[in-house]
Amino acid sequence: MSNQNYIIDMLELKDSNVYFKENFYYKETIKGITYKIFEGYLSYKPSFCPSCGVVFDEKFEKHGFILSNIIIPDVSGYKAILRLHKQRYLCKHCHKAFTLTSNITNYGCFISNLTKHKIALDLTKKRSEVDIALDNGVSPNTVERVMDSYYDTIKLYKHYLPEVLSFDEFKSVKSADGAMSFHMCDGITGQTIDIVEDRRLDNLIKYFFYYDYKARSRVKFITIDMYSPYISLIKKMFPNAKIIIDKFHLTQLISRSLNKTRIRVMNKDKKNHRKLKRYWRLILKDRDELDFSKWKKYTCFNSLMTQVDVVNYLINTNEELKQTYLIYQEILYSFKNKDFKKLKQTLSNANSKISNYMKTSIKTLLEFLPYIKNTFENEYHNGFIEGNNNFIKVIKRIAFGFRSFKRFKARIMICKGLIKIKKTVNA
Ligand SMILES: [Zn+2]
Repeated sequence: MSNQNYIIDMLELKDSNVYFKENFYYKETIKGITYKIFEGYLSYKPSFCPSCGVVFDEKFEKHGFILSNIIIPDVSGYKAILRLHKQRYLCKHCHKAFTLTSNITNYGCFISNLTKHKIALDLTKKRSEVDIALDNGVSPNTVERVMDSYYDTIKLYKHYLPEVLSFDEFKSVKSADGAMSFHMCDGITGQTIDIVEDRRLDNLIKYFFYYDYKARSRVKFITIDMYSPYISLIKKMFPNAKIIIDKFHLTQLISRSLNKTRIRVMNKDKKNHRKLKRYWRLILKDRDELDFSKWKKYTCFNSLMTQVDVVNYLINTNEELKQTYLIYQEILYSFKNKDFKKLKQTLSNANSKISNYMKTSIKTLLEFLPYIKNTFENEYHNGFIEGNNNFIKVIKRIAFGFRSFKRFKARIMICKGLIKIKKTVNA
């Protein structure tokens, strides 16, 4: 291999029309950054004139060079520039001059296609666009342009939906129409299928009409949280789907109302304030899991006690708290043992002394009761969708907030490997 070919190969230029003279390499400091500069020449015999289309003949004349600095990927940790002298030609048929082109960059662009490709790959990692821009020596706008050009806006496969689906939502970007966006994934693999900007009912119905009837009829189970528009949506759009309320959301609902009750009691009770504040975890804990045999010293308490003693003391400070705690434990028990009969009984015979927070939660549970039955009878849950939402939070954080929902969604899909880099790119 000649020196010439070594350089071309090393810089991955993939254009044999570039040649290098002696002293082709030097370092230069531009705006405080040291660059490795590779100075080359682009020259070949053009096949025709791009303005008038006449095939190359003796009326084509060389017409000097034009210089462009092209950003290429880093070399040994240094920023690198290909300083390319491009041959110009004058066509005497139409008296217009033109510059030779290469496949290193696209027309009129100073960023090499190789750099763009690297940016596209960097976008698949959990890194901010600002960092990617800095690393590749380009502006954040360029990173966004590369994203738009390398990745197609998500094309959905509208003829297929899996048998088990999971619905959830997450807080979206500011520009999004609804405050919450809708997130759908495969209920068995956890793979994200799509995210939709606005989770309001009208919009989701419109969205699901894109899927053909056959695809929608295939769906047998859908796990959701207790958001009633989903029920109407599923009844309308999924003729064969059973609705399952996600287990996690069930427990979350009642533990939140118990916790709110505790906080209200705590704020009114100066004497036991510290105790009620400190041992909140024990109150929320499943009573069967509390320890009743280990005696120890608890902060804020004088005598030796067990966990059960602590909880008993706390709930006995207030009747409302006690009743709320008792029903909470009963509901929790029926969730754990998948005892639908007991749950129904507990909910319909609720003591009137329980807190209003718990009353509201019980009303909600009663409203969703037929679907909670499905929860007990099936193993599907939304576990991974919560994980997916954490992932979305990470993406959002590293991006310091996306302004456009389209890009936000694209970035999520890119990082998840759901959209692949296009083969042909026009950036
Ligand atoms: Zn011409």
